[in-house]
Amino acid sequence: MKIAILSRNRNLYSTRRLVEAAELRGHSVQILDHLRCFMDITSDNPTIHYGTVEFNRNDFDAVIPRIGASVTYYGTAIVRQFEMMNIYSINESVAITRSRDKLRSLQLLSRKGIGMPITAFAHSSKDIDGIIKEVGGAPLVIKLLEGTQGKGVVLAETKKAAESVIQAFMKLNADILVQEYIKEAGGSDIRCLVVGEKVIAAMQRQGPPGEFRSNLHRGGKASLVKLSPTERKTAARAAKVMGLNVCGVDLLRSDSGPLVMEVNSSPGLQGIETATGKDVAGMIIGFIEKNAKPKRNRTRGSG
Ligand code: ADP
Ligand code: MG
Repeated sequence: MKIAILSRNRNLYSTRRLVEAAELRGHSVQILDHLRCFMDITSDNPTIHYGTVEFNRNDFDAVIPRIGASVTYYGTAIVRQFEMMNIYSINESVAITRSRDKLRSLQLLSRKGIGMPITAFAHSSKDIDGIIKEVGGAPLVIKLLEGTQGKGVVLAETKKAAESVIQAFMKLNADILVQEYIKEAGGSDIRCLVVGEKVIAAMQRQGPPGEFRSNLHRGGKASLVKLSPTERKTAARAAKVMGLNVCGVDLLRSDSGPLVMEVNSSPGLQGIETATGKDVAGMIIGFIEKNAKPKRNRTRGSG
């Protein structure tokens, strides 16, 4: 097969591993920096231009989008162009867009009855008291809607602290999410790697002492973890609701069962492959081999 990987940096571990796994299985791979792609959207024969080359529907059988959070808008437009060319994308543009919007994804997950921490959204409500009450009072977690890697996630231990932080964020005109603090998670969470409705690898991430955020970027450590059947089912269902074939589903272990925190459409492979020793990249390519057919995308650029 001819596979395109949309990635801004060919030296990233995840990109390198996907190339390696695809080539090992006899496929040819090309890495395209999505920001350097351009497209003629008015033509009735959709193509993608890259430098001096013009790609059409015969040039690729499948595309693997690895779109960073800061370039979601343009990146998903490129994925949509591939879909319009009837080229199979392992994650569709609509699903990526959906998962990038924390508010939209939590609303969708809650509609399907998937467990998540009690969460309120706010922009500039005067009723700070009401928001705090809504999630059960302090301690609580306040998150900037646009944060990643644990930046913009604050634990407010007291009601006073919660009020000041919420006020400060509102003053900055930021959209925030106020969430019940899951104390019993003990500064750890579980990353489930889902490929095609199945959890194929999972790791526990534990923040350093005194840190409630488990992000590996913040010094968290990854280790092997055995999932309960409910955890597996919850992660697989969350992926399905988001419509993502490949994703990382982050769970908190709470007294009332697994709670979904977020679903990541371009999960990093380094942490999970190192912690589990599994060939996650190979399984992603395996999924493409089984599923990549022209016109297989459900939405085909329709929105
Ligand atoms: P980011 O998108 O920046 O990674 P997250 O929502 O994943 O933000 O939060 C970062 C980390 O903080 C999580 O991995 C988890 O360890 C911790 N955390 C987040 N929300 C809660 C919560 N409601 N209760 C307990 N811990 C939380
Ligand atoms: Mg996170």
